[in-house]
Amino acid sequence: MSYEVRQYQHFIDGEWQEPAGGETIDSVCPGDGETIARIARGSADDVDRAVAAARRAFEEEEWGHPRNGPARAELLRAVASRIREKRDELAMLESLDSGKPITESSMIDVPSAADTFEFFADQVSGASAGEVLPVPGDVLDFTLREPLGVCGAIVPWNFPLMFVAWKAAPALAAGNTVVFKPSELTSVTALEVARIFVEAGAPAGVFNVVTGFGEEVGQPLAEHAGVDKISFTGSTAIGREVQRRAAGNLKRITLELGGKSPNIIFEDADLDQAVSGAMTGIFLNQGEMCCAGSRLLVQESVHDTVLERLVERARKISVGHPTSWETRMGALISPQHRRRVLGYVQKGVEAGARLLTGGRAPIDPELAGGNYVEPTVFAGVTPQMTIAREEIFGPVVAVMSFRDEPHALALANDTCYGLASAVWTRDVKRALRVARGLRAGTVWINNYNMVGPYTPFGGYKQSGYGKDLGRAALSEYTQVKNVYIELADDILCLYE
Ligand code: NAD
Repeated sequence: MSYEVRQYQHFIDGEWQEPAGGETIDSVCPGDGETIARIARGSADDVDRAVAAARRAFEEEEWGHPRNGPARAELLRAVASRIREKRDELAMLESLDSGKPITESSMIDVPSAADTFEFFADQVSGASAGEVLPVPGDVLDFTLREPLGVCGAIVPWNFPLMFVAWKAAPALAAGNTVVFKPSELTSVTALEVARIFVEAGAPAGVFNVVTGFGEEVGQPLAEHAGVDKISFTGSTAIGREVQRRAAGNLKRITLELGGKSPNIIFEDADLDQAVSGAMTGIFLNQGEMCCAGSRLLVQESVHDTVLERLVERARKISVGHPTSWETRMGALISPQHRRRVLGYVQKGVEAGARLLTGGRAPIDPELAGGNYVEPTVFAGVTPQMTIAREEIFGPVVAVMSFRDEPHALALANDTCYGLASAVWTRDVKRALRVARGLRAGTVWINNYNMVGPYTPFGGYKQSGYGKDLGRAALSEYTQVKNVYIELADDILCLYE
């Protein structure tokens, strides 16, 4: 397939700007390797310009002043409605750029991005609300929540459009300005959102997008003395690097990192639903999900039944081009990533796990140009195996069995990660006991992958800290000022 190649520059200070170095990067469709867009290859100079624009908008335009609250809410609402109007175009671009099936981008990614902008439009007044404190004495004391200033966002390639909403919407609602750095592999929809910001009448400099490689754009952004906060989503290794780089001016940071999430099925669960949840948990977005349910823990008594149903349904998933409405699983992001995923499959086989289905590229010659991997199920996995410990970030599930509740919890928590988890049971007391015992930022009971604007999302342990989404995200983008007002005529003084 060949495409009309779109050309994009950086979006800085309300304008499309050439990269200082004059170079570009080709963005290719993971489904067939064809170029779909050419984006700017950014540098530290471009980051400087974007940060200066964001700083000017924050200070001179007083974007974060309470008097601009209604304008902020109106802008976010206008962006949400324009995203909805452009749903078909954005969904197609998202699938072409990231490899995810068009059914997912049009039913999940685009509506969810719009919902997130709308949710944070509703939070604008709450974002700055403080509290009156009961300080003893003739005193009035209250707090104000104020924006931080210029916020940098650095994100990966698996949910390119949704991440614009996750990062920009709460930051802008709280009165900050934003410099956004998408993944070099999937920048198109972030740049289309920049276009939407123009259409929605955003003041110049409030939202900026600088594209390019991690070391050439992400790193200078993380280090920049003019940036007050970095919100990073990506791998744990780069998260550590970002934390180090951000230390120079003590930036606040939020780190949303990797995961190896346990999905626990007890014998009393509705097994059909649990298997549906296991499928959604690992096969949505080709398994390129930070919160993928990549460790499926099944109670011994129902282990074989669950496995049989899971394998049967996994074999039926139609792997295909991301733009086809028939496709239920698209292509992995790059040939390198596919090699990495297949390398993990190899390690699983070598370690003695039983490969029940998948584990290879589809044989269909029409898919030869893309980075496809068949839905893959491993049984007989033990906790020490690499496929049980490391994040694969592909459609590969490691199934393990457990005896009882304490055994399930021990297996579930035996990981350095702590992003998400799920429990399938009809026993409400057990569900709540296990939810308490799981060391993860999210626990789903009788469902999986239910992430939305209302609920805070973020990790424990090596999955990072801080929250995206929900009202909790607002505290990541605000700081608290205490205001003490003395009302007494005499104040205590120790000096003559
Ligand atoms: P990555 O860490 O390689 O890259 C993420 C972003 O960081 C990209 O924009 C990249 O250009 C940039 N970057 C790379 N090197 C940098 C550096 N030295 N300084 C600053 N920025 C740099 O991750 P990826 O491969 O794009 O995405 C996959 C990872 O993201 C997985 O580990 C996955 O779990 C994680 N992820 C986490 C969440 C979450 O919410 N917890 C969500 C999605 C993905």
